[in-house]
Amino acid sequence: MSNKKRYAIVLDASKCIDCKACTIACKMENNVPKGPYAYRIWVAEKPFRGSFPVIKRGFLPSQCQQCSNPPCVQVCPTRASYQTEDGVVLIDYDKCILCKYCMTACPYDARYESENVHAIDKCTFCYHRLAEGREPACVETCPPKVRVFGDLNDPESEVSKLLVEHEHTVLKPEKGTKPKLYYIV
Ligand code: SF4
Ligand code: SF4
Repeated sequence: MSNKKRYAIVLDASKCIDCKACTIACKMENNVPKGPYAYRIWVAEKPFRGSFPVIKRGFLPSQCQQCSNPPCVQVCPTRASYQTEDGVVLIDYDKCILCKYCMTACPYDARYESENVHAIDKCTFCYHRLAEGREPACVETCPPKVRVFGDLNDPESEVSKLLVEHEHTVLKPEKGTKPKLYYIV
């Protein structure tokens, strides 16, 4: 049996309370510049539901969708953007020439220009932590445990079981990017 992993995150956005602990943990873990314009992950507000006085707010945490078919990798002229054997899309900062083709190609607006690394940057599933058997910082930090991280190639993993047990969707499926962030509906 192959030991190759296929990493994914399953999110239950209904649990999100918009505390933004994930975005702060991510910034600290990954040398993301301070300020509101540099981020690897973010929390969007959904339209209000219901009517006054009973109005419900909802939130949609998001980040690089770790596409199985990533257009950012396909357009990168220097191969700075690449995909690992276990399906994680990474950026080699030394090879990045800041042409920004990848930013234009990404349907999820998941990339930003980092003044700290002088290259394009985005979520890496905290790849440096995975080698140590640790989870991504956002997964570990989130108080209500919105995100579950794991290996889709392991049928016993929590992510595999969640996808069997729950109806789920991906963002912008019409783009054909085959994201590995799954949202429970
Ligand atoms: Fe690339 Fe954007 Fe897909 Fe991430 S979400 S793998 S940056 S196309
Ligand atoms: Fe590749 Fe960097 Fe150009 Fe993006 S900006 S396409 S990572 S060289």
